[in-house]
Amino acid sequence: MGVGGGQGGLAIAFQLLRERVQNIQVIDAAEAGQEGPWLNYARIPTLPSPKEGNGPDLNIPSLAFQAWYEARFGKLSWKKLNKIPTELWVNYPKRFRKILSLPLQNIMRLIALVPLQGNINVKIECLNTGDVKEETTRKLILATGIETPGKWSVPPISQKIPKDFWFHTSEKIDFDLFKNKEVAVLGAGASAMDNAVMALEAKALGVTLYCRRSELQRVQPFKW
Ligand SMILES: Cc1cc2nc3c(=O)[nH]c(=O)nc-3n(C[C@H](O)[C@H](O)[C@H](O)COP(=O)(O)OP(=O)(O)OC[C@H]3O[C@@H](n4cnc5c(N)ncnc54)[C@H](O)[C@@H]3O)c2cc1C
Repeated sequence: MGVGGGQGGLAIAFQLLRERVQNIQVIDAAEAGQEGPWLNYARIPTLPSPKEGNGPDLNIPSLAFQAWYEARFGKLSWKKLNKIPTELWVNYPKRFRKILSLPLQNIMRLIALVPLQGNINVKIECLNTGDVKEETTRKLILATGIETPGKWSVPPISQKIPKDFWFHTSEKIDFDLFKNKEVAVLGAGASAMDNAVMALEAKALGVTLYCRRSELQRVQPFKW
């Protein structure tokens, strides 16, 4: 069983099918097409990654984003494209999943897992009905992305600050509130940059990012 139907979960499901492992099931808590950050808490209009980067296509050119884009908009348009617009990127996994008939069930959240005599017992909640079912799986793959810790967390110091003064990046944020204000961002990863840019575009006086590392992370973890 795979948990998470974002691009990581889709790629793993595809690879398993290519290896002839066909008795698989993938679940995702999000509604179909809403998996991952793109329609939820990512705000940028384009992907920061270069357009040529791999998605879940496993190096099969006809399944790559480029093939999909060229089929829709033509080769010339691809050449002219600088970065991939987020609103187009979100359509690509939908098509990918459909072409490959990937066995993804949506609105199903993994809520517990217990090792059981060499297998794993999982509890899955259907978020539509609230029904909880138990299943046993031999292998469990967690492709739960940024939500892996199970809940969004904020540093304890935020509890001492009135809620009107801070937001977590997963929340809906009215960036007009930052006009003519100094904004502090805790963190310097993708979401931090994303929200810093949004604040500046909303005419914040300035944005300061605070980072625990001595240097910004420059490694692309998906590039290996
Ligand atoms: C603003 C921003 C910009 C980014 N830009 C880039 C970029 O340009 N290039 C790049 O490579 N990466 C970028 N990223 C990182 C991006 O998050 C990942 O590349 C990509 O989404 C990772 O895919 P994933 O499948 O691992 O996780 P996700 O896309 O996060 O998918 C995880 C899925 O797991 C599901 N899930 C979580 N917990 C459960 C549970 N308990 N039960 C069931 N389902 C569950 C979630 O609903 C979600 O759909 C960016 C991230 C952000 C926030």
